[in-house]
Amino acid sequence: MALIKVFGENWDMEVKLVFLGTSGTTPTKDRNFSSFALNFKGNWLLFDCGEGTQRQMVKAKVSYMRINHIFLSHFHADHILGLPGLFATMALHKRDYPLYVHGPKGVKEVVKKSLELPNLKPNFEIICKEIGKGLVVKEKDYCVKAFELSHSAKCYGYIFEEEGKKGTFQREKAIKLGVPVGPLFRKLQEGKSVKIGKKTINPGQVMDYEKGREGKRIAFVTDTLPKGKYATALKGVDVLVHEAAFLEKDKERADETFHSTAKQAAKVAEKAGVKALYLTHFSSREKDEKKLENEARMVFPNSIAAKDLMIVKV
Ligand SMILES: [Zn+2]
Ligand SMILES: [Zn+2]
Repeated sequence: MALIKVFGENWDMEVKLVFLGTSGTTPTKDRNFSSFALNFKGNWLLFDCGEGTQRQMVKAKVSYMRINHIFLSHFHADHILGLPGLFATMALHKRDYPLYVHGPKGVKEVVKKSLELPNLKPNFEIICKEIGKGLVVKEKDYCVKAFELSHSAKCYGYIFEEEGKKGTFQREKAIKLGVPVGPLFRKLQEGKSVKIGKKTINPGQVMDYEKGREGKRIAFVTDTLPKGKYATALKGVDVLVHEAAFLEKDKERADETFHSTAKQAAKVAEKAGVKALYLTHFSSREKDEKKLENEARMVFPNSIAAKDLMIVKV
């Protein structure tokens, strides 16, 4: 992979999730198409890019220039029509470093087609990566993985995983025990024992594991029927963003269009044991998202119907 630009090394560890839109298929007066921006240490990751995404980004103060990776779930129009406009704006701002676009098989063709409009010639490199299930991106302190969904087109969900912290290395203790400053420190931090003469030093003697913590995990699931094995991929997820196109009374319509109801999304959240569920990608026929939220809460109490430009700090 070519080097990517890293912004704000000293950013705090908070992961910020912004709902750029919460509508599916068509926009409404109050809802743009479903796409999400996630901020980690000053970098923005963009998940899907429906029409109007960049205007939502302006409102939410999501910087175009701080995006290195775009992750596309699938190629239905409501998830990709914002790409040409975003590329044009990036070019206008004289972006001069690569942009990665990840998506199912055919992503290269989709990006190529979106650049076929006259006068749309970005002066930066767009690198398209076809994904399969498993690891998609591994950066210094996070990774993004993909898993398969059940939709009318090949569709993937994504999980952002922050690297966890094993604990704090107690440098002074290590020095007192006779460990020389240098590569042996790293070995101990990695959980390996080291030998100093005849003496063995175990990681437990120099690491404060009480200060360790699991990395944060945020998953995005659009669009899908609530079937298949994807709930197993969601184990350990803190925040699950799941589509909930319909109310239970429209379950048949959900089945026909390969979408989920709010209740079905809640069942997935419960099965996976996530901490919080955010519903999104609402059908334009559902005017009141509170109704969807209430249906989900009957199954999974910590369900929230997302609104456009809602920010969630994890
Ligand atoms: Zn959709
Ligand atoms: Zn779709």
